[in-house]
Amino acid sequence: MTRIHLVLGGVLLAYGQNGPGVPGFGVVAEPENHALSVDRLMRYHDSGEYESQIRQVVNSAEAYLIERAEKSGGKLAAVFDIDETSLSNWDSMSGCGFCAYSAELKLYPNATAAVISPTRELFNLAKSKGVAVFFVTGRQEKQRAPTTKNLTDVGYAGWVELIMEPDGNKDPARTFKPRNRQAIESKGYRIVLSIGDQASDLAGCCAERVFKLPNPFYLVP
Ligand SMILES: [Mg+2]
Repeated sequence: MTRIHLVLGGVLLAYGQNGPGVPGFGVVAEPENHALSVDRLMRYHDSGEYESQIRQVVNSAEAYLIERAEKSGGKLAAVFDIDETSLSNWDSMSGCGFCAYSAELKLYPNATAAVISPTRELFNLAKSKGVAVFFVTGRQEKQRAPTTKNLTDVGYAGWVELIMEPDGNKDPARTFKPRNRQAIESKGYRIVLSIGDQASDLAGCCAERVFKLPNPFYLVP
């Protein structure tokens, strides 16, 4: 019996004789049942559509990177987000029914996120073209050691800088990330692309092109 069947069985048991066609049933419009939302996300992932969409976005990013690297010299840079961009938290996310990241951190060991292979390919392509890679992440400084270990363990190597939020930072990603891209450009780099899974990864200063990976699993404002 699937997860959905278990839940629906529980609902019918709870309501006894009540159901469609029974007076009083469905008087108010409810939001979609959480179990249905979870099932929809699981199917999006398990069908291969999620991976396929990541591949499509990365293909576009690679094409632009190649075009741009061949066009001019200078100090070129690429900015990568980490969670759901460079590393996948799929096991933790799906294991807790897509709970909040703060809850995931309490439930699951860190430093064990899986690689997102197309992004690692883009990362290595950037390096091969002489483009400096920066990670700009919403993870905080207290997570630096496990984050570095995790990135290294899955095959990322040779980045220029890992920029993390200060511990206790209250600035939203939408503010923190562009400020740090500006800081990268103030060091003389031209950011040719920025890639992330949240709109807040990509808003504001500074990148010639931004590439948005899919993430229907959570939202970072
Ligand atoms: Mg992310």
